[in-house]
Amino acid sequence: MSTSGGAAAGSVRFVSAPELDEPMLGADHPFKAVRLPLTRTLLEHAGLLDPTEIVAPERIDPRLLYRVHDADYVEAVKLAARGDPLDDAWTYGLGTADNPIVPRMDVAALRIVDATVTAAAVVARGEALRAASFAGGLHHAQRARASGFCLFNDLAVAIELLTSRYGLRVAYLDIDAHHGDGVQAAFEERGDVLTISLHESGRFLFPGTGFEDEIGRGAGLGTCVNVPVDPGTDDASYLEVFDLVVPSALAAFRPDVILLQAGADAHRFDPLAHLELSIAGLIAVYERVMALADRFSAGRLVVTGGGGYDPYRTVPRAWAHLWCEMAGRRLPETLPASWHAAWRGRIPTELPTTALEPEDAGPTDDARRARIASHNRAVAHRTLAALTPIWAGWRRSAHHDAPL
Ligand SMILES: [Zn+2]
Repeated sequence: MSTSGGAAAGSVRFVSAPELDEPMLGADHPFKAVRLPLTRTLLEHAGLLDPTEIVAPERIDPRLLYRVHDADYVEAVKLAARGDPLDDAWTYGLGTADNPIVPRMDVAALRIVDATVTAAAVVARGEALRAASFAGGLHHAQRARASGFCLFNDLAVAIELLTSRYGLRVAYLDIDAHHGDGVQAAFEERGDVLTISLHESGRFLFPGTGFEDEIGRGAGLGTCVNVPVDPGTDDASYLEVFDLVVPSALAAFRPDVILLQAGADAHRFDPLAHLELSIAGLIAVYERVMALADRFSAGRLVVTGGGGYDPYRTVPRAWAHLWCEMAGRRLPETLPASWHAAWRGRIPTELPTTALEPEDAGPTDDARRARIASHNRAVAHRTLAALTPIWAGWRRSAHHDAPL
């Protein structure tokens, strides 16, 4: 362990800067950067974010970026963003509906990497126990290809910092509705990084991967954990499979730090996915993550955003609750009227007025819920059946404790 033990219990940092509030892929793209100032101002108007807790992104060492992305891909993103003609844009995933070519998108994507790496560095250096980079979480970006609204994989670069510069074992936990394919691909052959992803099954949703038999390869065998759940999964079933799998995986791996990708698109209002969690369900997940960090990584936790395409009703509230869990605070039941006043006329809809949702889930189909829960339970047991014998081998084998 190279982190100092000096971080005061409960100390938190919030990485933010005005340039992160600008849309990376254009104003009309569903990946809406306005979620960030909406979240931050909600916390500020509620008195739940102290100015001394906000840190600006530091510029990263570019060598870290090139550990994650091929140089020709980084160059292609820069050329495209400058408007240079690029014959092979498609091979890099650029110029698609998901990843349109937008001026200065390279600069915006690099600032997001800076933000998440800064959050990781703050925790690794012991300056805070927990740090958030809600601009980050671009988990689909691949080594040489843009994918799923993601250009550069800030999460993978932050993991490179934590492992290569600080010698830390990193557990990556992805609760976005989509599979964390880019992060899994970057580390599936490494023994010092655990990736766990709970997501809507790839049979129904982009990117079509993340099945329970994807468990890592080579030195990384046993370090990929996937729990693909059915469309329609509700709070109770999600929490059931989370509790079945996540604590066991962390106990087997014994991380020094946890990195949470907290995409908010598992919420039932999200237009791009089909899970049916509520705000209360998301809070229950966040509470579990805090308890798991206390239990398995001495409290050390780095948090990013991610997906979340209901940008006004859902995402600011979800991430404000997550920040409150990190900081040991609580959103007021009635959200501050000054927050609504500050945004009136600047966004196309009304903001929510309460911290939780009114009971408006509509009629429930209990037989359908039971069927989904039963299927998800079977998936979680298959995930565990594939991994538990490998994890038992780790416990028996001394090499698991060897310096990395
Ligand atoms: Zn997503």
